[in-house]
Amino acid sequence: MTTPTAGPALEVRGLTKRFGGVIAVDACSFEAPLGQVTGLIGPNGAGKSTAIDLISGFKLPDSGTVLFKGREIQGLPPHQISRLGLIRTFQSPREWPGLTVLENVVMARWDPGREGLFSGLVGLGRAHRVKAEDELIQAREILDEFGLSALRNERAGNLSGGQKRLVEFARIRMAAPELVILDEPMGGVNPVLGERMALAIEGFIASGTSVIVVEHNLPFIERVTHHVIVMAQGTVIAEGPFESLRSNADVVDAYLGEQVRQ
Ligand code: ADP
Ligand code: MG
Repeated sequence: MTTPTAGPALEVRGLTKRFGGVIAVDACSFEAPLGQVTGLIGPNGAGKSTAIDLISGFKLPDSGTVLFKGREIQGLPPHQISRLGLIRTFQSPREWPGLTVLENVVMARWDPGREGLFSGLVGLGRAHRVKAEDELIQAREILDEFGLSALRNERAGNLSGGQKRLVEFARIRMAAPELVILDEPMGGVNPVLGERMALAIEGFIASGTSVIVVEHNLPFIERVTHHVIVMAQGTVIAEGPFESLRSNADVVDAYLGEQVRQ
């Protein structure tokens, strides 16, 4: 059992990143509460993806602090950050295309520090084998829950974009991180899968994974988030429950007005 931690899952303070003359992220500060879904919205070029890269270790910040469960993680490499329990997705789903859907989900538990699952199954001791079998059972249950059982033995590379996204969500469920950051998960996903993804996000929260989600699909943001951060020009311009942002003049000027016109 984990001890409940006081304070937010993630705290970003004064995060800044320049690319030449462009300040992509500019003294950005926000918090993502534990046990909640935090939305991150804003126009293209606002700095959302760069902020995620800085938080997850894929880019180095010029300055600022990132606290994950109260611990400073800025500057750590991505694999260390993910092993601490913070994982992220990319705007395009990433999977092992040559492995089956089931293998992709099981491998989400793979840890470079221990023997691989498959060598565990064929050669190693009983404890390893039992653990591996438990993981297979759990992966099958997750695929059932995500409506992916029929695709279990399909190579992940053959799936549609939306199905790959669902497999990615199943992998997150299997990895059971403490925080997941989703970068535009609804891109190219049809409404039926979108509803499954909304349910999956509820499942993440129920299983103890806090969520930050970047998304332009505002009905989805309204449906799944507890709290929304609005970024523009590299910094936070407003935050609150989604409903409270509709009437915020700064948010309408920077982003929502543009969405209505589209
Ligand atoms: P968002 O995800 O909100 O659309 P990004 O973080 O992708 O925004 O981009 C923020 C700004 O930083 C944009 O002006 C973008 O052109 C710039 N930018 C992002 N990545 C790079 C890079 N690798 N090199 C130069 N400029 C970049
Ligand atoms: Mg982006």
